[in-house]
Formats: sequence, structure tokens, C-alpha cells
Amino acid sequence: MIRPIPHMLLLATMALTSCASTKPAPQTEAQTPAEDPKPSFKPSAEPAPKIDAARAMQYVREQVAFGPRWPSSPGHKKIQDYLRSKLKRDGLEEDRFTASTPVGKFDLCNFIAKFPGTTDQIIVLASHYETPYHLKDIKFVGANDGGSSTALLLEIANQLRGKKRTGPAIWLVFFDGEEAFKQWSETDSLYGSRHLAEKWKQDGAAKRIRAFILADMIGDADLNIELETKSPPWLRDITRQAAADLNVSAHFFGRETSIEDDHVPFARIGVPVIDLIDLDYGFNNVFHHSADDTLDKLSPRSLEIVGNVILEMVRRLSGD
Ligand SMILES: [Zn+2]
Repeated sequence: MIRPIPHMLLLATMALTSCASTKPAPQTEAQTPAEDPKPSFKPSAEPAPKIDAARAMQYVREQVAFGPRWPSSPGHKKIQDYLRSKLKRDGLEEDRFTASTPVGKFDLCNFIAKFPGTTDQIIVLASHYETPYHLKDIKFVGANDGGSSTALLLEIANQLRGKKRTGPAIWLVFFDGEEAFKQWSETDSLYGSRHLAEKWKQDGAAKRIRAFILADMIGDADLNIELETKSPPWLRDITRQAAADLNVSAHFFGRETSIEDDHVPFARIGVPVIDLIDLDYGFNNVFHHSADDTLDKLSPRSLEIVGNVILEMVRRLSGD
């Protein structure tokens, strides 16, 4: 993740002065999803599984042990092999492409694990797995940024694997190239998600996506998931209901902010998106993109809260 630092400080200030009734900030993009009427589908009758928080935390530890994971680094290769090995039984697809960045061309790869359903609809759960190239000169291990959400998706895969699903398929997407190579801009960011959104627009998959749920920086022991402004009201409601069901509402939607992340290219092509992200990592977000983004700042309980809310959201999105 995500934005240039000056924006981040501004956001943090806004966050402190906003409250749940604050009107959404003016948007310059992706206005349409928020206007969509509530879809008619119902929750599935099948209960949602629960994640194993200790195992999810172990997956964060294993990624951090690879060291920095910026594109073309040894750690990047290691995490790609790790994802291949963990997801080898899950209909894994590799979406390879070459990205032209301000510092040259890079071979990047999104991974997509596919769990079939009984309809042509799709629920997408997504994360990015790489760490920023522009931080290659500090020891940035991305326990929270990159590590936490990737670990959570791997644990969600454990919960889906080998079970018959009715309703939409679930596709788990592990994006490469979310981060800027030099400095965050429209063209130097979101390489993997821009590539995949274009591909799914062309092949028609985008039209079949019932919801796209992105997780990013969800491991912070002091968990406060933002209300990101590009999500449609009905999908926010499903998130709120899932959190209420699990008695974890206090961790959700205390602040309303606009954030650039891997959901943006999908919002632009009309896919209903939500970004579950905690952009207040340490006081004034000081641990974000710093060498202090380490395991000791994380809690397995935070992974558990977000993981179980996502699985309950999936249940609520899975009926006819
Ligand atoms: Zn980041």
C-alpha cells in the first residue's frame, strides 16, 4: 500500500476529526458503484467456517523469514514458490506479465486460486504479496503490509479446500506489483491489479464478479478497519452485519477515508469493491513503509477478526 506520505498525513488528520456520520469525501473516480441498488441475493444457509488464527500467524512468520520481497529480489522468488506450493491443489493460475516501470521492465505474476461453486458468479478475495521496490535499501519485511493479508488468504484457502460449495465460485487473488517502484502515481502503482482488471474486462469475468473484497494491512494489534469511500452501500452493510454477528463491530468503520489500493482498477470497471484496510499503523501510521513493520506489531486476534468477518461476508454473498 498505498499513497504518497503527504496524503497519508492529511488522511490521518481527517480521520481524527471525522465520525461515523461524516459525509463521504468528494470522489474523483468510481462514482457509479455507490449508486448501485442493493442486489437481491440472500445469505447462504451453510454456516461460515472459522479461520485458525495461529496458523495464519505462522504464514506471516514464514513470509517475513524470506526477507524483503520486492520484484526481482531473492525474497520475491521465494514467496512465489511458497504460494505455488501452498496453493498447488487449488486450481492455481499464474497471470504473468511484464510491467514497464520508471526504473525499468519487471516480470510480475499475479496468482489466482479458484474454488468452484455451482453458478457462473464469482466472489473475489484479494491481497498483494510483494513488498515495495522503492524500499529495497532498508530492511523492509512487510509483516503487516503484504504479509498479513497474504497469510490470511492462505488460511482462507485451507478453510475452502476440499469442501463442496453451493453458490458463486471463490477466487483468491494474490497481486504482484501493488506498490510503487519509485514514487506512487497513477502509472507507478497497482501494476498487477490494473493488468488483471483489464484482462477480466476483456474475457468477461469482471461482469460475473458479485463482490471483490480486498484485504491489506489487517494484522495490526490495534485493529481499526477504515470505511473506504469507493464501496457501495449494500456491500458496506454486509460487512457491518458480518462484524455485528461476530461481536467485532468496534474494529470496523470508525473512520471514513478514500484510499488508493488494488480495488481501484476493479471499481473503475464497475465491479462492486470493498477495501478492508487499517491505515493507522502505529501513531500517525509511523510503522507504514518503515523498517518497523515487523511481527511484534501484529496480533493473531486481528487476523482472526478480519478472516472470520470475510468468511461471514462470503456466506452472506453466496445465496440465490
Ligand atoms: Zn505498502
